[in-house]
Amino acid sequence: MFCPKCKSILMPRMMGGKRVMGCSCGYKAEGNVTITEEVRNTAKAVEVVDKEKSDDALPLTDNTCKKCGNKKAYFWELQTRSADEPATRFYKCQKCKHVWREYK
Ligand SMILES: [Zn+2]
Ligand SMILES: [Zn+2]
Repeated sequence: MFCPKCKSILMPRMMGGKRVMGCSCGYKAEGNVTITEEVRNTAKAVEVVDKEKSDDALPLTDNTCKKCGNKKAYFWELQTRSADEPATRFYKCQKCKHVWREYK
């Protein structure tokens, strides 16, 4: 079992009387948390993105779309994981509506 954050091998640790698989980077797997959990979290984040369809309310920035080459894109930030991690910035092409993300 490996840490999805830093790819180190997870070690069993005692946390609050419970035996959990944890990593030196602070990541801890509760119960049978595997890669599947990670995928589900990502899907949830995309769901939230889909709900924010009001493009007009989003600020425009200079960012080149990898799909159509348009140089203007809407952007917004989303806290996808724990609060101590930087937010993920999403971009949405003004022209073709292609959405991509950028990790800071
Ligand atoms: Zn780790
Ligand atoms: Zn585009």
